[in-house]
Amino acid sequence: MLLKAENIALRYPNGALGIEDVSIEIGDGQIVALVGANGAGKTTTCRVLSGFLKAEDTKIIRGRVMFDGLDVTGWEPHRLVKVGISAVPERNKIFRNLTVREHFTSTAMHRSRAERAEALDFGLQLFPMIRDRLKQCAGTLSGGQQQMVAIIRALVNSPRLLIVDEMTLGLHPSLQQPLFDALGTIARQGTACLVIDESTTHTVSTAQYCYLIEAGRITKHGPSQGFADSDFLTIGYVGG
Ligand code: ATP
Repeated sequence: MLLKAENIALRYPNGALGIEDVSIEIGDGQIVALVGANGAGKTTTCRVLSGFLKAEDTKIIRGRVMFDGLDVTGWEPHRLVKVGISAVPERNKIFRNLTVREHFTSTAMHRSRAERAEALDFGLQLFPMIRDRLKQCAGTLSGGQQQMVAIIRALVNSPRLLIVDEMTLGLHPSLQQPLFDALGTIARQGTACLVIDESTTHTVSTAQYCYLIEAGRITKHGPSQGFADSDFLTIGYVGG
């Protein structure tokens, strides 16, 4: 198993338990979806797995995260990137004043120039429209283009696991399919993906395996086919 998170609990500084008991497994090249209602703990889970804990001053109080056999519990993002975990967070995913090209040249310093160039080329093939925008300031791009830049930037790190939180939130619905298709291509090329998205239809049809999180606990998981017909899609947890 590439990633194995076991019984994670995390507390926010105000005392709130962000998540209480989260166990997730992701295999090499697998697409896994995490679904659940607002406030259930999806973003908090992403923070744990991608290391963005300090900014929120949060603490893992129970459990551990194993990645490729290595205990990476509580590691910061720059260390996780080196072992192969890259994330596209829900917010603050681009630097408004940097050009698009600068987003790609200011990351993945642990990779060789050739590796970075190859990964960038793969990312630009996924989203060809970004090739024409390399000199543009990222803050002037549309929301969809910014998301593409953020995904390509994560890919330049040549991750073994890509985590994308709220992949299409706030974007025009016509972008849902292309972004999910891109995720499929990324996974076929060997990179595992953990995706969170409010469009459950796309999420469940793209992922091979799903986890349902309710009030900070994983309450159900299994192959996506089993999820497509299940109650949780119809009882108002998640839309789309
Ligand atoms: P959404 O879809 O609304 O983003 P989510 O499933 O991603 O929801 P989280 O944002 O992870 O849920 O929130 C899980 C719990 O942690 C909630 O009870 C939330 O109020 C709490 N929480 C999240 N961020 C903070 C924070 N910075 N400080 C205190 N509590 C927080």
